[in-house]
Amino acid sequence: MNSLLLNTDGVQIPQLGYGVWQVPAGEAEEAVSLALQAGYRSIDTAKIYGNEEGVGRAVRSSGIARDKLFITTKLWNDEHHRAEEAFEESLARLGLDHLDLFLIHWPAPSQDRYVEAWKGLERLYRSGRVRAIGVSNFTIPALERLMNETEIVPSINQIELHPNFPQPELRAFHEANGILTEAWSPLGQGRGLLDDPALAQLGSKHGRTPAQIVLRWHIQLGNVVIPKSVTPARIKENFDVFGFILDPEDMAAIGALNTGTRLGPDPAQFG
Ligand code: NAD
Repeated sequence: MNSLLLNTDGVQIPQLGYGVWQVPAGEAEEAVSLALQAGYRSIDTAKIYGNEEGVGRAVRSSGIARDKLFITTKLWNDEHHRAEEAFEESLARLGLDHLDLFLIHWPAPSQDRYVEAWKGLERLYRSGRVRAIGVSNFTIPALERLMNETEIVPSINQIELHPNFPQPELRAFHEANGILTEAWSPLGQGRGLLDDPALAQLGSKHGRTPAQIVLRWHIQLGNVVIPKSVTPARIKENFDVFGFILDPEDMAAIGALNTGTRLGPDPAQFG
């Protein structure tokens, strides 16, 4: 399993993790248990997903040493003024004593409190309750403002990113500032993108599925990637992306699928 180094002393994140948005609370424990059995060691949840309890039960009953796991959750938009309390509440729901990564879920510019939220995350990081802190859905101006007005550079920015929306400017900004790029909806939510004939063609060339081709593209770009599935065969399939290599022409063919179309909200407007 590949891991990437965060800008936080020595902390590494598995490059491939498992995301649980839209996994219902009652199914989360089973889904995460399956993912852990398949070999995933990084789990991405959020308060707003409503499934932190199930994620925590799966993690605690897995028998896997806590220091071999990487658990991420996120601060929701209505709690920017109380990041530390919200963190403790998430930790209690997860039943864990520390987190590996805590993210501000959205900058929510109309509220204009993300700088205050980030200062709360900085205090949490300094207290040792969380090994790394980062953001999600931050634009370049929002990142620049954090870097100008606070002390710690976010370790990661988790953003919508898939072949139809590859975000080259934001990725370049991250790279220039030592911020890792984490791709959400990496498979384009399984809608449309995976039916593209270009991916089917690359799939037959490499003996892989379109989903595996897309995940491999993310890995070779250097993204952290957190695909979601509740189907046991797909959970395994999505984890099996380290045994082949896309060549530069393959990467370019996938790069040509950029339509500039988002699936989710525009972070400059949302919240
Ligand atoms: P995704 O791109 O991972 O797609 C998931 C869907 O694709 C599945 O529900 C299924 O329908 C399909 N799929 C999965 N594996 C497949 C396979 N092997 N073959 C065919 N179809 C397959 O979408 P996502 O769930 O939106 O994103 C992944 C994770 O990113 C989420 O679970 C969550 O953890 C995170 N996320 C974060 C934010 C944010 O604002 N930070 C927003 C959305 C998602």
